Amino acid sequence: MAKKGRILTGDRPTGRMHLGHYVGSMHNRIRLQDEYECFFIVADVHTLTTRPEREAIQQIGANIHEMVLDYLSVGIDPEKSTMFVQSAVPETYELNLIFEMMVSVARLERIPSLKDMANAANMDSMPFGLLGYPVLQAADILLPRANLVPVGKDNESHVEVTREIARRFNGLYGDVFPVPDVMVGDVPSLIGTDGQAKMSKSLNNAIFLSDDAKTVNEKVRSMFTDPARVRADIPGRVEGNPVFIYHDAFNPNGDEVNDLKERYRLGKVGDVEVKKKLAAAINAFLEPMRERRVIYEAKPSLVDEVLVAGTDKVRAIARETMTMVRDAMGLYRLPTL
Ligand code: ATP
Ligand code: MG
Repeated sequence: MAKKGRILTGDRPTGRMHLGHYVGSMHNRIRLQDEYECFFIVADVHTLTTRPEREAIQQIGANIHEMVLDYLSVGIDPEKSTMFVQSAVPETYELNLIFEMMVSVARLERIPSLKDMANAANMDSMPFGLLGYPVLQAADILLPRANLVPVGKDNESHVEVTREIARRFNGLYGDVFPVPDVMVGDVPSLIGTDGQAKMSKSLNNAIFLSDDAKTVNEKVRSMFTDPARVRADIPGRVEGNPVFIYHDAFNPNGDEVNDLKERYRLGKVGDVEVKKKLAAAINAFLEPMRERRVIYEAKPSLVDEVLVAGTDKVRAIARETMTMVRDAMGLYRLPTL
């Protein structure tokens, strides 16, 4: 089948993948594997923007392993899709530097998510590299000349920078890069189990794809619901209530969900029943992933094999792109003597 183009997206190896990643981005990755030529980046260089400490770097290897197991478990097929490690593609650094000339500091300073990231990492000032996060992301996306980028809502503004850089480069030097489209998932930003902020690896409010049934049951049992509802026999609020947001996202039984919502609004169902049914739905959703994980875990060298093959493939494409970039720009070429 002729492909519609290339996809690039990925994640920082800062921990395991959770339900937010799934609905924000992974679902689209799995869905589009046949239609597009897919590249999934393990963005280890990006972790340095907020976690440059040696101890954090030492954890990257183990995180990469877990993350790729998560990819495989959700159904990303290494026969169809290319998974690779960012730091092992040196052209990334090269294109990043060229792209740094294509965007203003003021433009990057207007991106709110970067300030949030600096705050979340307890940084008192903005590192140059963190300000350049979206520029490095542009290098990731445009090295394989990707056409489509499936990400969560918080990443949409970053991809906009990629689009601007691609246009700017093409305007200055001729058409080398596609201007990639962004695709946000069914649930653009899934709220965490705390009901306070988006689900995030670093906020202790996540249900991980690799959590076992018991852990899921416990996490759902302690989830936030309608804070105003102090007793089960008073009417509750469904809208914006995390348990119902999750029911909508993960419970395929629409009749059950509507029945629960109706009774919740009337004060005729307790949180316990709503949560029991939610935990069951999430466990049913995760069960096929758990089964696949067991199979992949039994092959300890698989993750490395997948990453080595994927990175080789991306490097060849990256070299091709950099030749196009240097030719288009007319960069000085040292004569061979
Ligand atoms: P960290 O705490 O390390 O920033 P994170 O959980 O925020 O981790 P990222 O690695 O920043 O995850 O995000 C990877 C991808 O998943 C991005 O496309 C992002 O938009 C998407 N994503 C992350 N969290 C959510 C969420 N709660 N809902 C929807 N999409 C999400
Ligand atoms: Mg994040």
